[in-house]
Amino acid sequence: MLLSVIVPCYNEEENVFPFYEELLKNTPFLEGEGLELELIYVDDGSVDETAARVRSLHEKDGRVHLLSFSRNFGKEAGIYAGLQKAKGDYVVMMDVDLQDPPSLLPEMFSYLKQGYDSVATRRVTRKGEPPVRSFFARLFYKIMNRISKTEIVDGARDYRLMTRQVVDGILAMCEYNRFTKGIFGWVGYRTKWLEYENVERAHGKTKFNFWKLFLYSIDGITAFSTVPLAISSVMGVVFCLCAFVAIAVLIVKNLLYHDPVAGWPSLVCIILLVSGVQLFCVGILGQYLAKTYLEVKRRPIYLVKEEL
Ligand code: UDP
Ligand code: MG
Repeated sequence: MLLSVIVPCYNEEENVFPFYEELLKNTPFLEGEGLELELIYVDDGSVDETAARVRSLHEKDGRVHLLSFSRNFGKEAGIYAGLQKAKGDYVVMMDVDLQDPPSLLPEMFSYLKQGYDSVATRRVTRKGEPPVRSFFARLFYKIMNRISKTEIVDGARDYRLMTRQVVDGILAMCEYNRFTKGIFGWVGYRTKWLEYENVERAHGKTKFNFWKLFLYSIDGITAFSTVPLAISSVMGVVFCLCAFVAIAVLIVKNLLYHDPVAGWPSLVCIILLVSGVQLFCVGILGQYLAKTYLEVKRRPIYLVKEEL
């Protein structure tokens, strides 16, 4: 049996070796289980020494593979590429920064043996993260789970161990706009959740700033929910109803009290409000259209520069 480990890396030169060493601490366990190892570093267009270090590992240890992209395509593309290349009967994805502790592997494996198809992890604390980011992250998961039928677990990491069947399920979803957390939920299968405390990055800095995460959350919403479109239609109906009531009130007022319509400030406010809501709704529509546009172009999800 073969276990494939996929690690997406973007400018992670300091983490390449420490990760390898940490992973190899599981060697006795793997040997005990009769599992062979395949380690795939997906270099997502790094501009530092990441690829060179993986190359040197590959020379020493043939089980280490390198897949380099022609530029930075994002972590989602890295995961997809890794899953495509993985030959393993079991596949696990981990971050190279050691935030996904390889020492959990034996425990994760024990659940596969109990009949689970996939073992996922979630962090129960967000220690070491800016409070504003934690707040918005929680808000995102709350909203997302309200508006989407696919379950997206708060604090879920991309650290997952899966059987070949689950991997094939994920690969069958060849969409361009990839939101992996949703894709995992969408494919289903029996999943065991393991919880652990947040671990801080071993070296370097996070590649996701607030703005990148915000855009990512919009990707997630458009990919796994159409509720915003429904909300904009409902808003249209509510505004029409308000207008009808206002018209009725004005007519009655005029007929009974001969009260001339007073003041344009109120009118300006109403026009601003309504046109604002209209633009907002067109914006929502635009987001879906933009995603559809990118999807129908059928561009490749990533381009390979080097493969070892
Ligand atoms: N990553 C990637 N491409 C990117 C950004 C990140 O392959 O464009 C990798 C990164 O090297 C790391 C993993 O994705 O192995 C998680 O990134 P990071 O640790 O920066 O995210 P965080 O843990 O802060 O959410
Ligand atoms: Mg990290």
